[in-house]
Amino acid sequence: MCGIFGYVGGKDVTPILVDGLRKLEYRGYDSAGVYVAGAGVAKAVGKVIMLAAELENNPKIGTAGIAHTRWATHGVPSIENAHPHTDHKSIIHLVHNGIIENWAELKNELREAGLTFVSETDTEVLAQLIGIYYEDNLQAAVKKALTRIRGTYGLAVMSTKVNNEIVLARMGSPIVIGVGDGEHFVSSDPSALLSYTKNVIYLDDGDIALVTADACVITNQRGDTKETVTEVINWDAVVLQKNGYDHYMQKEIFEAAEVVRATTRGRMLVEEGVVKLGGLESVAEKLSSIKRLMIVGCGSAYYAGAIGRLMIEEYADVPVEIELGSEYRYKKNFGSTTTA
Ligand code: GLU
Repeated sequence: MCGIFGYVGGKDVTPILVDGLRKLEYRGYDSAGVYVAGAGVAKAVGKVIMLAAELENNPKIGTAGIAHTRWATHGVPSIENAHPHTDHKSIIHLVHNGIIENWAELKNELREAGLTFVSETDTEVLAQLIGIYYEDNLQAAVKKALTRIRGTYGLAVMSTKVNNEIVLARMGSPIVIGVGDGEHFVSSDPSALLSYTKNVIYLDDGDIALVTADACVITNQRGDTKETVTEVINWDAVVLQKNGYDHYMQKEIFEAAEVVRATTRGRMLVEEGVVKLGGLESVAEKLSSIKRLMIVGCGSAYYAGAIGRLMIEEYADVPVEIELGSEYRYKKNFGSTTTA
């Protein structure tokens, strides 16, 4: 699960979104994207700096928008799979952290209804569902679509029909609203809000919020409007990012259990006793005829690859090589793009 940032107010939104994403970079990610109300979408595979360059070449001017750093769970890192995702009418723009467990059933259902998909992600299914339910009320459409969803999500959604509202929802993946003066910020991580405001509203699981520059209305799972409680963050940014640990390595070690839980969530089909890796589905057939595999990784990924090599050779009886990858090669192979 990766990063969400959003803004609605009176300021030029693009620098705010890019700055927000940069503050979320420490969480790791593979691609990034923004939707700026009235101006469209920009995406890039690789670092936020590449998205920033893309936005410099093709500026998106507006005063509200949502942004995302993606850490792929369903589908490879690519422009098509990067968020924001949209529906078949290109009205809905949505960024999502988490995993939609019943995406495959829903995707089949929507395909039978005649919809086509541009990405391999679980997220696009939700964008399409919201598009189907959308008449003139975004919050109502999000609420209805979420009744069909099983899984975890932190969501920020906008419609091209209303430029000054963001709908948020949370289930198992954090969303925090930053309260400014005639403006609201949105983040999946309070540390990214600190340079803008220390006043925050935390969403609880099941909450859906409608945020404009001046207002924030939250409804709970039963549909009742909740009293919004604004809290003051009193940690400084560095302490907050380290979550109380003395340094990042210590934090990573202690957070390992939660990371393993989050990574396997939605991928372990306990009743069937199998693990489902959605990203491999499109190449399942080819996999049965491969002669050898090469694993490329840097840092911890390299060590994980070394263990993977032992396991694949033992269980699948396929010879595996492992190579230390370089960022240079990564940059060379991936580009960036933009749409209006
Ligand atoms: N499951 C979504 C995807 O693969 C979201 C991943 C994330 O949390 O970054 O696009």
